[in-house]
Order: sequence, then C-alpha cells, then structure tokens
Amino acid sequence: MEIIHVSAECYPVAKAGGLGDVVGALPKYQVKMGHHAKVVMPMYKTKFLYQNEWAVDYKGRTNLGDRWFDFTVIKEKHNELGFDLYLIDIHGLLDREAVYGYADDTERFTAFQIAVVNWLSHWQHRPDVIHCHDHHTGLIPFMMKHCYDYNKLAGIPTVFTIHNGQYQGWMGWDKSMYIPRWDEWKRGMLEWAGTINPLASAVKCAWKVTTVSWSYMEELRYNSNGLEALFEYEKGKCAGILNGIDAQVWNPATDKYIDNHFTTDTVDEGKQANKELLCKQFNLDSSKPLFIFIGRLVGEKAADILPDAIMSSLYNFKDQVNFLMLGSGEPNVEWQLSQLVPAYPGSYNAVIGYNEKLSHLMYSGADFLLMPSRVEPCGLNQMYAMQYGTVPVVRSTGGLKDTVVDMGDFQGWGIRFNHATVGDLTHAIWRGIDLYNNNREHLAWMRKRMMNIDNSWENAVQQYLNLYSSLR
Ligand code: ADP
Repeated sequence: MEIIHVSAECYPVAKAGGLGDVVGALPKYQVKMGHHAKVVMPMYKTKFLYQNEWAVDYKGRTNLGDRWFDFTVIKEKHNELGFDLYLIDIHGLLDREAVYGYADDTERFTAFQIAVVNWLSHWQHRPDVIHCHDHHTGLIPFMMKHCYDYNKLAGIPTVFTIHNGQYQGWMGWDKSMYIPRWDEWKRGMLEWAGTINPLASAVKCAWKVTTVSWSYMEELRYNSNGLEALFEYEKGKCAGILNGIDAQVWNPATDKYIDNHFTTDTVDEGKQANKELLCKQFNLDSSKPLFIFIGRLVGEKAADILPDAIMSSLYNFKDQVNFLMLGSGEPNVEWQLSQLVPAYPGSYNAVIGYNEKLSHLMYSGADFLLMPSRVEPCGLNQMYAMQYGTVPVVRSTGGLKDTVVDMGDFQGWGIRFNHATVGDLTHAIWRGIDLYNNNREHLAWMRKRMMNIDNSWENAVQQYLNLYSSLR
C-alpha cells in the first residue's frame, strides 16, 4: 500500500511531543513490513534540514484567501529515516525555527494543508490512503471531499488520528475564505459550537478516526473539550490503536545517549551506574530512590501539583528521596520548580527546557517516573520508562491505564493512583519509597518484568494496516 502521512511533527526532523515520535516511527515500521509509507510535513528551519540533502519534487502556486503564495515540495535524497520524507516550503510562513507558538499559526498550518492537497491533486496516480495526524491536518479530509479544486482526491480514503483532542485548532468564520471553493451549505462539516473546528471537521469527514489508546477513545465521549456529543455520535467509525515505541531509538542496550548500556540481566548494575552519573551531575544522592518527571509543564500533565507534592514528600519522608525534573511550559510552574532548587540542595534539582539526551539518561538512571496526568491520550514516557526498567507512577487515565498494571495487582509492575491531587501523588511516591527501601528484591523482579513487555510498533502497525485495508 502507498500511505501518505501528513503531520506537523516528525522525529528527528521536528518534535514538540509524542506526535513527533509516532510519526517518526510508524511509517518506518510500515516500510519494514513492505509498504510505501511517506511523510509530508512543513519545512521548518531545523538542524535536520541543514544536515541532509534534498531534491525538488514539485513547485506550485496557490492561495490563502486573497493572499497568493508559492510553495516547493522537497524530498530528502538518501532515505535517511527509512521512509520517504517530503517537506513543504512556504517562504515567510513555515520556515521558522519553532514548530508552534506564532500568532499566525492558523494561517501557517492552513496554507500547509492547502499546499498538501494541491500537490496531491497533481499526482499521476492515487495513493491508497491519506493518514492525517492531529488538528494541524484536520481540514484535509474536508478539502479532499468537498472542495471543487480537489475533486480528484474525493475517492481516496482518509484516516485521522487524534494524538491530543484538547487542542482543536479553532478559527473564526472570517477565516473561512482561506478554504478554496466549497458550497456554503456544507459549513456544518467545518463547524462546531460556532467556530470552524478543524479537529471536529476531521472527525466528521475522515473515513476512519483513531485515537492512540482504547481508554482515550472512551474518555473522549465524556471529556473532550466540547466535542463529547460528536464522539458519541461518530463512535461507529472510531477505533483505539495503542502507540508503540521505536525500539531502535529507545533501547537501553544500544541507546546512543547513555554511557552504561544494560539488558534485563544487567539492569540493576546498569541503572545504578547511570544513576550515579546523573546524581553527580545534579548534586543528588545515588543511595536514595530517584523520582523523575519529564514532560510539558502544563495542566494536562498535572505539572501544577508537582511542586507541592515534592515539598510534601521532602518534608514527610525526609532524607529518603531524590527528585529530578525536566520540562518546560507554564511560566508559574517553571518558576515554582526552579525556586525549590536552592531550598532542597542534595535532594532536588530541575532543568527547565528541552533536552533529548538528558531525557534518555534520566529514563536509564531513575528508579521511578512520575506521570500524574489529568489527560493522557497514550503517553510515551511511561513506555520508555518501562523499557529502561524505571517504575512508572501514573494516574489511572487514558493510555496510562492501558499500559501500566499496579504492583498490588497480579504480576503488576507499576504504581497507579486515581486523582491528580497532591495527596494521591504523595501517597504514590510513598509506596515507591517503601518498595525501594523494604522490598528491593521485588523491585528487581518488577524491572525485569516490565522490560520484557513488548510495546514495539509491529503490533500497532498491523492494526493500522488492517484498518486501511478495510477502506479499500
Ligand atoms: P505529549 O506528546 O503529550 O507531550 P507524550 O508522553 O506522548 O506526551 O510524549 C512526550 C515525548 O516528549 C517523550 O518522548 C518525552 O521524552 C519528550 N519530552 C517531553 N518534554 C521533554 C523535555 N523537556 N526534554 C526532553 N524530552 C521531552
């Protein structure tokens, strides 16, 4: 099958979160299974762009309302990533350093989507499926089905995957003129609650909709930032397919970012060696359990309860625990986490920012990973942690619920709690400390148990392939 993935992110070209990881891995595994998977994404000014060789694939001209623009589709020459990678260059709009966060993001990603369908409509043959990811590509199913200029694409199946349903790409009706030639009576296919809602539009127009875990699919029907009724109505075409992890990038036996490699047989020693390096670098104590957090410091991740839970733990379980935080996001949380550093020397440290290498070192050297998320569509961090024998301490929600079994349950290897509150999180931390101090043998068993779980992509890829086949 020829599968075209359209996304705003793809690791290692540009990544802001889990979406990038998934779009960097899924096509690679589809190619391994004998299919032609391609990724098309915006051309940002990233390191990857400058480090690789490119060939021009197509040059076009189109418009965003009354603003005409030229675009160029360039293709990476040497198949560096294991699949064909195409970048859309729209000078002045997409060629920025960051992926998101600009005042004109609506214009940037709408222009990107228009360029994609314009380019596809010039192909001599038709691909088997167009697989769009998250709201930045949510207008594509509508345009393929309902815009006169892209009529040619109307019969190509579309799949839309929701990696995060909280962000929906809302835009005012004044921007409807950006979308090329369509019949006014079809506005219902773009609208939700009075605005153009690209995520809702994709749920209505795509042939199939998937989310990145089964539990998240269920949760969207009662908690999806206003789209609950839509998910209830469209549940017949929705399915949950749990993400996998890229075992080439996330493997403690070969990880290029860590110094002490390990396998299930050497996990205890390997982890301790990495923990010692980490603790030395961040002024922590390697004889105590090390709890880490890695991620965006936002409400969705319940990052706001971390400072109080850390203070409460350091107060109640004095001298028995270490914390190391890595993340960036809401300024007040960044500030609070930074303020704790001088208050607890030797037991607590925080790095505000994004650091891929450090994240690998942390997964490999830590004992526990905290994920108190309020919403977690799939969550990759807990799966990476499990791959490195780091006990996930998670709230029972979405993909966390689908991938972590509590150590109190039969053959469980994690710690689960129900509420994103300081009390619940502190109690979960206590369970971790108790395990580390009083039941080291069981901890060693849990590490091996979780490292043996197969979270690889092969299984998920097969489910996507079955889904595509059902549409042909
Ligand atoms: P989300 O996509 O909602 O942010 P996921 O758990 O699906 O959450 O994926 C997060 C990914 O981003 C993981 O690969 C994680 O290691 C990485 N990540 C998040 N924040 C940072 C950071 N500050 N430094 C390094 N990696 C980070």
